[in-house]
Amino acid sequence: MIDEILHIINKFGHITYGEDITQLEHALQCGQLAREDGASDALIAAALLHDIGQFLDDAGNAAEQRGVDARHEITGAAFLARAFPEAVTEPVRLHVDAKRYLCAVRPGYREGLSKASELSLRLQGGPMTPEEVAAFRNEPHFAAAVRLRHYDDMGKQRDWQVLALETYRPLLAGLTRPYPQGL
Ligand code: FE
Repeated sequence: MIDEILHIINKFGHITYGEDITQLEHALQCGQLAREDGASDALIAAALLHDIGQFLDDAGNAAEQRGVDARHEITGAAFLARAFPEAVTEPVRLHVDAKRYLCAVRPGYREGLSKASELSLRLQGGPMTPEEVAAFRNEPHFAAAVRLRHYDDMGKQRDWQVLALETYRPLLAGLTRPYPQGL
């Protein structure tokens, strides 16, 4: 599973999806931000892997080129659930909702989004309603999802030297569980 994940990221990592940096740089910057923030291993892994759904079923091109929301956070979380616990998969699943949440509750947050994030926000339903905000706050992994969202937003910097993908292998291996019987 770890080999498969690293292979997928390396294979599609050169893609940009409308941002200034590649998806590999974005993933590594998010992982680095989580490390520097003292996040748990699970949240570091979530930060590193949060966009992996973009590489599955060509979801990443959907928003930019076809104007549809392919729900990459759902496909990504489901894929990661084959090997990782909820402390990894839930922040991944919720990272788009966390953006919609922050747009609703944090003044000025929306204005700071990248162009691509603003475009996808509209496809994702825009800022949360008060009811959605209340429900989101009840999610067990709510706080981790919001932290991940901040890494996501900050992890779009040009010319930042960060740790290489391979350095995350032991951390990822430490979080994985064996495949269930029959898979
Ligand atoms: Fe992202």
